[in-house]
Amino acid sequence: MHKLFDRALGAYLGFAIGDALGATVEFMRPREIQDQYGLHREIIGGGWLKLARGQVTDDTTMSLALGSALLRGGRTDLQGFAVGDDTLLRSIGQAYVQWFRAKPVDCGNTCRRGIMRFMHEGTLCGAYNPGDAGNGALMRNLPAVLATLGRDPEFERLSIAQARLTHHHPLSDAATLGIGALLRHLLGGASQSECQNWTAQWVSQNPTFRFVPYRGRATAYVVDTVQTVLHYLTLHDDFEAALVATVNQGDDADTTGALVGMLAGARCGASALPQRWLHRLHADIVRNITDQTSGLLALSG
Ligand code: MN
Ligand code: MN
Repeated sequence: MHKLFDRALGAYLGFAIGDALGATVEFMRPREIQDQYGLHREIIGGGWLKLARGQVTDDTTMSLALGSALLRGGRTDLQGFAVGDDTLLRSIGQAYVQWFRAKPVDCGNTCRRGIMRFMHEGTLCGAYNPGDAGNGALMRNLPAVLATLGRDPEFERLSIAQARLTHHHPLSDAATLGIGALLRHLLGGASQSECQNWTAQWVSQNPTFRFVPYRGRATAYVVDTVQTVLHYLTLHDDFEAALVATVNQGDDADTTGALVGMLAGARCGASALPQRWLHRLHADIVRNITDQTSGLLALSG
């Protein structure tokens, strides 16, 4: 398999694996997880959403919605976006509306509010809102990273623009760009030590996200999310070890799990993902992710 494709597919499938694994223990405390599961390490469904085994949640399906809008618009809309045309952004907004109307298993409050605003007012961005520092925009940005690989200014503009459809907060923006840049670095073949160096450098420039010493908070507040993700990603080189440690931290475990799965999956590539987890994912999700990965990479040129 081509190296870049393997890493990109590892990121997208790793994301879905982390979502499916973490959803079982979403909103639980680490102690509660321990009492109920010992160490939670199998994709078994359940959780507060009463999921089927291998089912993913909003994190994955909303990413797929973004990916589908990017693919539908193709190179024409992406080039238009680069010169200030808003066609692409409107169709991303429409994809989120369509996703919402299909009654997803879950939808965060800030995402819902943003989608409603776009539906009723047609605006591509709300006013700055101090309550918009959740992780919902960061969580779904992977397709924007793939579609703009190798084009720095477009990566930044598209990431922020898709994020602002629902979240208008500098911490959401900073996290979306930071995790996106780290993903690009790993897709380029960065090793664990390069990943640790990059992260230390980024955190020194964005001290709000400093994760040493780790505070043990894994909520949907984007600062807690990023700290948890970077803590476990840099602590463990191994995909499975990083992901198991992350989801057993509980709280927003499907989202922290998805993001660690994405970054660790880019680092190891799809061919190194644990087979028992991969086989648990629903076949339509795996097919959709595989198709989007090749389509989005082709879009990036
Ligand atoms: Mn979720
Ligand atoms: Mn979540």
